[in-house]
Amino acid sequence: MSQTVTKKLMLYFPRCECEKPIIYHLVKDHNLVVNVYRAKVTPEEEGYLVLDVTGTEEDIERGMEFVKTFHVSINTTGKGVTLDEQRCTHCGHCVPHCPTGALHFADPATRRVDFNEADCIECLACIRICPYRACASVF
Ligand code: SF4
Ligand code: SF4
Repeated sequence: MSQTVTKKLMLYFPRCECEKPIIYHLVKDHNLVVNVYRAKVTPEEEGYLVLDVTGTEEDIERGMEFVKTFHVSINTTGKGVTLDEQRCTHCGHCVPHCPTGALHFADPATRRVDFNEADCIECLACIRICPYRACASVF
């Protein structure tokens, strides 16, 4: 039996595809469990979605092939939130505000802050809090 895995993805929906029930079909027809972190429709009616999908590798692959038939772009890094290493001063201000530990002290001795994207749930707390604007949303 195939092993179940979870993948974090960011989907970009061009204007014409926003209203189609793509997520519904991922669940119903491709046996995937979908956990949506964040969704946004721009004033131009383009859509962005950051989500986890859980299922077998085969079901996820088939589901993504289905998604691509709608001209939806799939970013498999799932990077809805980014950390700009050039701007980050490692002040640590964001660490206690990050609910998942995605932003954390990588080394207690140097107190260097590291960002583990896979643990980010897109709450956007760091974007509001970072005094140096090192954290940003791609949409
Ligand atoms: S608050 Fe901003 S500058 Fe400070 S450690 Fe976090 S991301 Fe880096
Ligand atoms: S968006 Fe939220 S979960 Fe992600 S790194 Fe920032 S504070 Fe942590």
